[in-house]
Amino acid sequence: MARIVVTGIAGRMGREITQAVEEMAGAHFVAGTVRRGGNAAGLSDKLALPVDDGLEAALDRGADAVIDFTTPEASLAHARICAERGAALVVGTTGFTPDQKAELTAFAQQAPIVFAPNMSVGVNLLFRLAAQAARTLGDAYDAEIVDAHHKHKRDAPSGTALRLAEVVADALGRDLGAVANYGRHGLVGARPPAEIGIQTVRGGDVVGEHTLFFFGEGERIELTHKASSRGAFARGAVRAAIWAAGRKPGLYDMQDVLGFSEGA
Ligand code: NAD
Repeated sequence: MARIVVTGIAGRMGREITQAVEEMAGAHFVAGTVRRGGNAAGLSDKLALPVDDGLEAALDRGADAVIDFTTPEASLAHARICAERGAALVVGTTGFTPDQKAELTAFAQQAPIVFAPNMSVGVNLLFRLAAQAARTLGDAYDAEIVDAHHKHKRDAPSGTALRLAEVVADALGRDLGAVANYGRHGLVGARPPAEIGIQTVRGGDVVGEHTLFFFGEGERIELTHKASSRGAFARGAVRAAIWAAGRKPGLYDMQDVLGFSEGA
């Protein structure tokens, strides 16, 4: 039984994750944290710890793992505490800068950290299918990615779209930094063959949709994942926490949790 603390339980994902921890076998909800002034309406008072007491106080209640879907700054502060305590940490937060990612990676020397921009099983399967498709289709097809999300999302493109682009670039032996195109406007000229396009759509209440196109001569392939609720991310995060609890320090992702890494 993994004893789990959830940070930011007033957030959209925090609420879903708290519910998933309470519902899933093998997981036990220990405590949650709410940022000072955060909207804790509808949350049971006994579940929410004020952030003044914060993650350390929550861990003092006896926890094996922390699930964190907050902001990059908050996730790093939480990673520092987990590293000091050796507690497992699942980070679903997106929008990290390269420096912030490096900082998180350093904390993983002291604690097991699962870091994934998308914790749904379906999207992680999509990553595998994307790599296989890119390898099979090769340079003759133009790869383009479109991500659609709700209007409140802060980062663009989504962490999932960026990961999808990395997977395709790796499979094709390309450097994403050199070939990514994040938006076209005006007289941009013909599309360079090696380019990987990543386009962003934002609006309404879209939970999260990603399509990877491979445009060829006379045909095209589309691989699409549509999330209809946040439940799939939340259940994936709890599965990751159960998997990570008690594991040796290191940086892991959902491919490890789902056993996709072996022989990928
Ligand atoms: P949100 O704004 O609804 O929730 C974030 C919460 O974090 C807020 O309630 C905020 O008060 C809280 N918070 C910030 N700092 C805190 C601190 N120091 N201590 C405690 N709480 C703190 O956002 P959201 O839609 O829930 O998304 C959160 C993050 O998760 C985003 O980066 C989003 O992109 C990402 N996300 C990841 C996945 C995935 O599968 N990996 C899925 C959905 C969303």
